[in-house]
Amino acid sequence: MNKQELAKIKERALEEHIPIIMDDTLEVIEKQLEIFKPNRILEIGTAVGYSAICFSEFLNKNGKIDTIERELDRVNEAKINIKKAEVEQKINIIEGDAVEILPTLNEKYDMIFIDASKGKYPFFLKESLRLLNTNGIIFADNVLYKGYVLSDYNKHKQRTAVRNLREFLKELQENKELDTKILEVGDGLAIAKKIN
Ligand code: SAH
Ligand code: MG
Repeated sequence: MNKQELAKIKERALEEHIPIIMDDTLEVIEKQLEIFKPNRILEIGTAVGYSAICFSEFLNKNGKIDTIERELDRVNEAKINIKKAEVEQKINIIEGDAVEILPTLNEKYDMIFIDASKGKYPFFLKESLRLLNTNGIIFADNVLYKGYVLSDYNKHKQRTAVRNLREFLKELQENKELDTKILEVGDGLAIAKKIN
């Protein structure tokens, strides 16, 4: 991959206020991927392709990423970025709303990165559990949402997002097939490994 282009893509995304993965969050995920080397990755929320390009470095030989994005402008920018980074053979963008796309998918993934609309996390989890291989890992970004999720915060327009993130975390922690950790890096990162 072209690291110089990756640096430019990151810089441009930050300038345009696109909510790309934070450095400390990325570092945690990359440490796991170094050992894990997934074959198939599914990402929910491509934005301009930054995280997918980063993850593509850690794929197993011949591994591939499917990544879903509903905003056409972002899909187009992501395609350009993925080409510039020279990883277009490794990343497949699926254009559309993940709420509609996920139920149509049928192959299994080794890693799923949930990084899209917070109000939909419980639904994304349900679909992710269906699509995840045993020993696979789910990473979910922004699960603590500026600290709102673990505080008694409940009177704001983001209330639905907060309620759904709380439900999402509860389901992760109560699921006996998952070994779950919730880290306070970045905006909150959940890591859930499917153990049987
Ligand atoms: N993973 C990216 C950042 C994603 S930002 C990175 O770290 O580089 C979240 C993206 O999810 C936004 O571009 C938004 O348009 C998209 N999104 C939000 N809800 C979605 C949904 N239901 N289906 C598909 N894309 C969605
Ligand atoms: Mg995010």
